[in-house]
Amino acid sequence: MIYDLIIIGGGPAGLTASIYASRHKLSHLVFEAGVIGGQIATATEVENWPGDKSVTGMELAKRLEDHAVSLGMNLQKKIITELKQEKGVFVCSAGNEKFEAKSLILSTGAMSRKLGISGEDKFLGRGISYCATCDAPFFKDKPVAVIGGGDSALTEAVYLSDIASKVYIIHRRNEFRAQEANQDKVKNSKKIELVLSSTIKELKGDRLLKSILVENVTTKETKELQVEGVFVYVGNTPASALAKPLGVEIDEKSYIKTDLSMRTNVPGVFSAGDITGAAPQAIVASGQGAVAAMSAYKFIKGFAEGIAVVNR
Ligand code: NAP
Repeated sequence: MIYDLIIIGGGPAGLTASIYASRHKLSHLVFEAGVIGGQIATATEVENWPGDKSVTGMELAKRLEDHAVSLGMNLQKKIITELKQEKGVFVCSAGNEKFEAKSLILSTGAMSRKLGISGEDKFLGRGISYCATCDAPFFKDKPVAVIGGGDSALTEAVYLSDIASKVYIIHRRNEFRAQEANQDKVKNSKKIELVLSSTIKELKGDRLLKSILVENVTTKETKELQVEGVFVYVGNTPASALAKPLGVEIDEKSYIKTDLSMRTNVPGVFSAGDITGAAPQAIVASGQGAVAAMSAYKFIKGFAEGIAVVNR
């Protein structure tokens, strides 16, 4: 069977695209091998999803999934390993299985960036974590550190402060890039201690992480902090590797280039969400997913123009 559309990535962009594709009666598949909802599912609290003053990331992801399923989403828990275009049809390989479609939406999002220091892989799951929602319970009443100065680092530090005995925020500069509202919450927490203008020089421990050596970038002074957990929140990198062999244009930071109709340079290939380099917010990803699905519908129906008015 050749589907009208294949959506790769089941975060807010992909799930919203599925909702719109169903409403436009496009036969389609959604591929998501990891956690449904993508990165938003790992957020402890979301306070900027319109209509919800506060919702957990997991709950928001579940609601989006339930909505898409209620309209007929066919979710495939498989990893797409290769994308090709053959005789005008897009062929998506998941190992030996092949799935074909007339159009694609690439919504594979972004992955947590690693710190890139020695021992990071060795202590993964043994002290190093990229997801407080998933791993915080392992550190109940134990001291932990959060690395980074963005919204993720600060919001997750506040969440961890309810569970851990103490939370150090280690940031390489002496000011945060996080929103003021999140900075205020950190300032109001008695359990959070800031270690600014500092980076981690060494992760120490045998099988499990026991402590970290931190260096002040200005004075070069070092100090050892006894922490059993280190939560890394130093940004994300776009997961755009699949797009390159299709000839989809990628910018210098590996984000997929699109127009306002979420069209890439390859006719029939659309993209939405964090992978496009737009503001990495769930609501933005959802909006782009909606536009991408409407543009895919127009493409399938043979309309030349995209959905965005400015492109007409
Ligand atoms: P981010 O905003 O890119 O911040 C990454 C942080 O990590 C920065 O403070 C950066 O330091 C630091 N960093 C980067 N590389 C580092 C390295 N090698 N070693 C040490 N520190 C390093 O990433 P994010 O916090 O994950 O947020 C991503 C996006 O999601 C942002 O647009 C954010 O606003 C959004 N978000 C929003 C909310 C919300 O509440 N609305 C919650 C979570 C995320 P510098 O500042 O020095 O560059």
